[in-house]
Amino acid sequence: RAKSLGRNMYQEFTHEMKEETQQRVKLETCLHGAVAAGQLQLVYQPKVSLASGTIIGCEALLRWQHPELGMVPPSRFIPVAEDSGLIMPISDWVLRTACLQAKAWSAAGLPAATMAVNISARQILRHDVAEWALGILDETGLAPDLLELELTESLIAQDVDKVTATFGRLKNAGVKLSIDDFGTGYSSLSYLKHFPVDTLKIDQSFVRNMLTEPGDAAIVRAVIVLAHNLRFKVIAEGVETAEHCRLLCEQRCDEIQGYYISKPVPAGEFETMLRNGVQLPVCRA
Ligand code: C2E
Ligand code: MG
Ligand code: MG
Ligand code: MG
Repeated sequence: RAKSLGRNMYQEFTHEMKEETQQRVKLETCLHGAVAAGQLQLVYQPKVSLASGTIIGCEALLRWQHPELGMVPPSRFIPVAEDSGLIMPISDWVLRTACLQAKAWSAAGLPAATMAVNISARQILRHDVAEWALGILDETGLAPDLLELELTESLIAQDVDKVTATFGRLKNAGVKLSIDDFGTGYSSLSYLKHFPVDTLKIDQSFVRNMLTEPGDAAIVRAVIVLAHNLRFKVIAEGVETAEHCRLLCEQRCDEIQGYYISKPVPAGEFETMLRNGVQLPVCRA
């Protein structure tokens, strides 16, 4: 019995793996033409300063709308892009589009807002991200200090020297750097003191549960103190309620981002928000 159960489980398992592989191959095939077919779009989510209550920037987030597959979330297609070599052409489109958009907003005289773009950690290990990003800044004419690159903590530890060198060159050129999903990686804290980053982004999983889970609340508090002691700014992502906002104010978090302020929106909507400002109780901590 145990043997046949084992066999069934094995068959089910290989069946699932087959499906998963087929799905990835299908995704990869479709993704190949996505840039040229104009199926990619960027949406922008505001970042707000708790001290001033104003929008200080936005994060560009990638959307892929495929005629048959529908809206494919980045959590699904970014890993496929990373494994298949499509990450560079896609990232190229993302960074160029985001820089052109930020340049247009600044040229239109809108309040200064930093444009944050996500960089795949694998990309930084395999390519010369500094040269690439500085090249696109040059082409698009965006002021380097209006660009921020967000890099997840995972994989950084795999090549600290390369990451440190890349960060150093970007930082020297004036580009801002932040560590995304902070607290979820496996790397040690010791690398932090070597990295010339500007901001730590507290992962949304801690923020989401900070009202109900004392452990998550403790991590949020600790990351804010850690960031400030290392002279970094700190932003909380995934802020969904006024209560989250209030607690983060109290703990002197610098900035927030999340559905409480706005979901990621198309460029036109973000522009309106930038023009009109947002309603937010100013932090009086
Ligand atoms: P991330 O950079 O940590 O982005 C935050 C994610 O949380 C986004 O999901 C955003 O839509 C979502 N989010 C924002 N506020 C809230 C909130 O209040 N509640 C909840 N539940 N979620 C919120 P999204 O857009 O699906 O992106 C997922 C991840 O995909 C990103 O995580 C990032 O790692 C990656 N990604 C997105 N765009 C790009 C891109 O252009 N290039 C690369 N390399 N990665 C990207
Ligand atoms: Mg991000
Ligand atoms: Mg994040
Ligand atoms: Mg994430």
